Amino acid sequence: MEKIANYINGELHAPKNGQYINNLNPAISEVYSLIPESDVEDLNLALDASEKAFPGWSNTSVEERSAILFKIAALITEDLERLALAECTDTGKPLHLAQTVDIPRASANMAYFAHAITQFSQKSHHMTDAINYTLNQPIGVVACISPWNLPLYLFTWKIAPALAAGNCVIAKPSEITPYTAYLFSKICIKAGLPAGVLNILHGTGSQIGNAIIEEPRIKAVSFTGGTETGKTIASISAPMLRKVSLELGGKNPAIVMADTDLESTVKQLVKASFSNQGQICLCASRLIIQDTIYDQFKALFIKEAAKLRVGDPLETKNDLGAIISKTHYQKIKSYIDLAFEEGGKLLLGTKPPKINERCQSGYFLGPHIIEGLSMDSRVNQEEIFGPVVTLTSFKKIEEAIQLANQSDYGLAGTIWTKDLTTAHSIANELQSGIVWVNCWMIRDLRTPFGGMKNSGVGREGGFDALNFFTETKNVCVKF
Ligand code: NDP
Repeated sequence: MEKIANYINGELHAPKNGQYINNLNPAISEVYSLIPESDVEDLNLALDASEKAFPGWSNTSVEERSAILFKIAALITEDLERLALAECTDTGKPLHLAQTVDIPRASANMAYFAHAITQFSQKSHHMTDAINYTLNQPIGVVACISPWNLPLYLFTWKIAPALAAGNCVIAKPSEITPYTAYLFSKICIKAGLPAGVLNILHGTGSQIGNAIIEEPRIKAVSFTGGTETGKTIASISAPMLRKVSLELGGKNPAIVMADTDLESTVKQLVKASFSNQGQICLCASRLIIQDTIYDQFKALFIKEAAKLRVGDPLETKNDLGAIISKTHYQKIKSYIDLAFEEGGKLLLGTKPPKINERCQSGYFLGPHIIEGLSMDSRVNQEEIFGPVVTLTSFKKIEEAIQLANQSDYGLAGTIWTKDLTTAHSIANELQSGIVWVNCWMIRDLRTPFGGMKNSGVGREGGFDALNFFTETKNVCVKF
């Protein structure tokens, strides 16, 4: 059985304790590789290597750093097919999704920050008797911890700005989806990234994840994952007065106005609700529809969602693949059961999907559509992170806004209307870090990305990310 290795000081290493955990393909429920169960001993090696590399790396020119990041981006593109297959095997997501979204975006993340760092300019403030100039300097050794739903996509989204800004990085991918991070370490070696600049440690959140967070030598933490884990990281980091960026869960509303182009809206909302089996933090999960078109929308939405094909992620005809794990599958199922207890009515999802021979033991769920739940029900309040959406109707805009904001989360909302004045006024009121109007998941990497309320602290993307990964220093010079 293949053993995945840690990437420490520019080389691939087995974990010091010799311990491994199983890496499972959720589409067939079979172990296909082994993941290092790294611990503090591996972390110490990585920290020593990072601290040693930091003076050199932080003093390279932006052009040198940019060139290496471009090289990594190009190598990701060159290796797209292998990386996409690895992502599909680790996550159960459709291969075509990994080929067209996950891996191209991982390459784009590296290329984007390779460009951005060359354009990251500092300010100066003139006074009558002095001039101030501001420096943005790398922080030191920082940690990047990412989840399983978009493995290489989110891993590189953090690592790229951290490295571009001149930091050294200790990164931990999710233990459930380590394989593309392992391949990424080989790409970094090939690209000539200096030893110790990036170190990738595999293992569980409770062991190596926690060890990284507890370590005061880590000067900043960029984390994407669940809200509870985010709170733990914040509470451990607070006494160290350490910078944290937290991208957490969501329970995203979609407000559908009566004047919307119904056919186009339904098509796009089916995608927004069920892509990647609903396991994207940005997926719509609470559809809030104006009462005059509610029945029409409902009928069309059910019809369109029912067309989605669920099954073997290797078959190109399938739109939805497997759920990430048995535990997560059971969690989603428990919310569907809860929906009944809370008085909901299941409009789609009663029949289990038909799955081919190869994937009989995998964890598959088709799209589920539920109506009749109050907005304060648990199903409408808690993040399910699966192919499950609820429908709720409203009469007036104020009510739609109130329903949309009735959540502890505030990540991404969508508005569907032909009237731009309505769209602007709702966008202004939504408690969401991201608002899309008549679209979903259009991403410009320069824009600030992140959530309000329980969806997180701080913003990623563009210069926000470069600001996070640097210390700001003002220098005042008297004339
Ligand atoms: P988790 O919070 O369980 O895990 C995220 C990462 O943190 C994993 O690498 C995990 O390791 C690690 N981890 C877990 N416990 C600790 C700890 N105590 N200390 C340090 N690291 C730890 O989230 P999931 O992986 O389940 O991801 C799903 C969540 O991510 C959803 O809530 C989703 O909304 C959110 N998300 C948010 C996004 C955003 O941009 N706002 C984007 C994508 C997802 P391990 O897996 O090994 O346990």
